[in-house]
Amino acid sequence: MTTAKLFDRVALIGIGLIGSSLARVLRRESRQTTLVACARSAETLEVVRRLGIADETTDDPQAAVEGADLVVVATPLSAYAGIAERIVPGLMPGAIVTDVGSVKAAALRDLQPVLAAPVHLVPGHPVAGTEHSGPEAGFAELFRDRWCILTPPPDTAPEAVARVTRLWEAAGMRVATMAPDHHDRVLAMTSHLPHLIAYTIVGTAMALGGDLKSEVVTYSAGGFRDFTRIAASDPVMWRDIFMKNRDAVLDVLQRFSEDLTALQRAIRWGEAEILENRFRETRAIRRSVIEAKQA
Ligand code: NAP
Repeated sequence: MTTAKLFDRVALIGIGLIGSSLARVLRRESRQTTLVACARSAETLEVVRRLGIADETTDDPQAAVEGADLVVVATPLSAYAGIAERIVPGLMPGAIVTDVGSVKAAALRDLQPVLAAPVHLVPGHPVAGTEHSGPEAGFAELFRDRWCILTPPPDTAPEAVARVTRLWEAAGMRVATMAPDHHDRVLAMTSHLPHLIAYTIVGTAMALGGDLKSEVVTYSAGGFRDFTRIAASDPVMWRDIFMKNRDAVLDVLQRFSEDLTALQRAIRWGEAEILENRFRETRAIRRSVIEAKQA
């Protein structure tokens, strides 16, 4: 815990897994910051009050951002455009607006209306998560040793980028900056395609009939189990990711299909060496992920 005050007043628009985890970080690292949590439902706001992770709660995004020097949009991506319109009249001049969305080109596009106010827009993506949702699922350590990618427009004030960087560093993250389109291509490969594959495999198993289907569950430790965890991720969040990162996902999906077909061919024609070589190469990738401390 530090005594530094990172921001005076932070508005968290959306207080689910990511928003509530950040609220917990701010509680720990910046105790004098006033936290305002905004969600749609009375149930979520009641949970937030019970958990004591915010000083104020509201279902009105405009009221939430009034007087805030930092606004964090942490809702599903499909809500961004509506939220941007609603918060513009309440934004304090000079405030920083950031977000945590998993797709960045679309986030920037949908948040553009906030630039009608004199604010700094610094979109971001903490690359950390679990398959759980809602404020009870959050925890401050979620972000530790993971990467946060910021995608500020080129003319953004460096001091605003530096303050958002300090926020995520206080959460234990390493921070990188890149162009939104580049972020979306990288994440299409590292996150979006793996989720699509997991959703597909679990869907294929569900479509199996009778005994076979129940045996897949019983003997799931053979590999299927790990896919079921990924495929349990939030349906709305992932629907939005595929709608918002369409082109980059379709591009890596095309390459994946070609590579899968090549392995299918090797199996069909008994080309053992092709399979073994590929598996040796992929094993090396696992070692580099472990060395990068991202395992
Ligand atoms: P979550 O746990 O489902 O929470 C979403 C929050 O947004 C809830 O508080 C919800 O309020 C609120 N919300 C939804 N629609 C809203 C609207 N129209 N107006 C105001 N509030 C609204 O979601 P999450 O997992 O934290 O994800 C949030 C964002 O983080 C997404 O954009 C996602 O792409 C990104 N992200 C997620 C992960 C992950 O692993 N989960 C990782 C990195 C980034 P109610 O409960 O009242 O509906």
